[in-house]
Amino acid sequence: MKLEGAKVAVVGMARSGVAGVELLIEKGASVSAVDLHPARNERLERLGVSVQPQTEAAFVKAEMIVLSPGVPADAEAIAPARQRGVLVIGDLELASWFLQGETIGITGSNGKTTTTALTGHILQASGIAAQVGGNIGTPPASMVASSKAGQWNVLELSSFQLETIDSFRAHIGAALNVTPDHLDRHYTLERYAAAKGRLFENQRAGDFAVLNFDDPLTRGYAEGAAATPYYFSSTQEVARGAFLRGGTIVLENQSLMEAREVPLRGVHNLENAMAAAIVARLAGATHEQIRGAVKAFPGVEHRLEFVRKLDGVEWYNDSKATNVDATLKAIAAFSGGLWVILGGKDKDSDYTPLAAPLCEKAHAALLIGAAAGKIEKVLEGTVPVLACGTLEAAIQEAFARAHSGDTVLLAPACASFDQFDNFEHRGREFKRLVNALGGAEIGGAR
Ligand code: ADP
Repeated sequence: MKLEGAKVAVVGMARSGVAGVELLIEKGASVSAVDLHPARNERLERLGVSVQPQTEAAFVKAEMIVLSPGVPADAEAIAPARQRGVLVIGDLELASWFLQGETIGITGSNGKTTTTALTGHILQASGIAAQVGGNIGTPPASMVASSKAGQWNVLELSSFQLETIDSFRAHIGAALNVTPDHLDRHYTLERYAAAKGRLFENQRAGDFAVLNFDDPLTRGYAEGAAATPYYFSSTQEVARGAFLRGGTIVLENQSLMEAREVPLRGVHNLENAMAAAIVARLAGATHEQIRGAVKAFPGVEHRLEFVRKLDGVEWYNDSKATNVDATLKAIAAFSGGLWVILGGKDKDSDYTPLAAPLCEKAHAALLIGAAAGKIEKVLEGTVPVLACGTLEAAIQEAFARAHSGDTVLLAPACASFDQFDNFEHRGREFKRLVNALGGAEIGGAR
């Protein structure tokens, strides 16, 4: 579509939306900015763009509509425009029209940020030009100006961004796993999986699809794909890709590194490391470069992050465990002696899968936030439950009860918005409160 002079409405004025407005203006479009709750925005004001309320009237003249990832694709106000045949795309699609260089797209229900950061880290450490963005931070539209031929765009992609693509194509696409999440927006697991699967829809022969072999939904993305599939597995040997043999990670039938050299806890992080290693290998990194870079990876804040050891008790912040699967993976990363802080804003989740592993590995579940009642019912009769209400009370409770050798784990399985601004705020509060606890500190040793 020719953008010069075109009337384009951009919906959702958070970071991605504002970046979209800026890009469209640069391309000569006549842009209107729309939001459910119009607020002043300095960047938009500098461009002379005011924000209009998200009603049907805002789209009457639009020739194209660009949705931010936070805006449901079936938002009522844009339905009439859709019926008129107006092109509706997402911010990723828009950016992809202008991004120079080849693109790596990484999606999945859990592990996207970790794998994207690790992939970028390996490429950069290997001297392979790359810029990292998408869901992880810099919106794709803001990466356009710094993109160039010969440089990789490493993008963390959510189902919301992929749901609204048209021609977007990743030279290398990776799908880590698909487990129930965001069903409030996608309604069914099938539709959610289909949205993520769009990553492979526009790929061509010569492109690559990096897929978790152990997850039937991601493995299924190979069916009908034009790209060459590469697989990773933590449970079995695969013909092309990466897997675990004993304690060794094997990449392309050659030993890459020992699993214990990966500085992140848990089998799920070995899966992330294998995915990143395959992607980096396909982008030109050598085994030696990959091994060195993975060993030096510092991890990502709020993802099973070690906070401190106090009186022999280790404290971990996994505030980003905002769904049940992430919490299951966090629990699986420890052998026992756990005090698990659970709860927050419920996302219509089924918490029953937590009962058995908690019963096996936890002294107690410490419940906080709005979902506490629902979780308590599910755990009844399996693991001791302590209704704490707030994060601070849960920390105090755990501090009073835990003994040397135990681990206190914040892995809430819920969103944070009932008591915090976001998961980062929850994680920062956890660290602040834990670091303020008294007692004999034993450095940061693990
Ligand atoms: P995302 O960007 O997909 O949300 P993150 O890397 O931020 O992924 O991790 C989100 C949560 O899921 C964290 O609690 C983390 O510990 C957990 N996690 C990370 N990788 C995986 C994985 N491969 N499978 C399941 N859970 C994971």
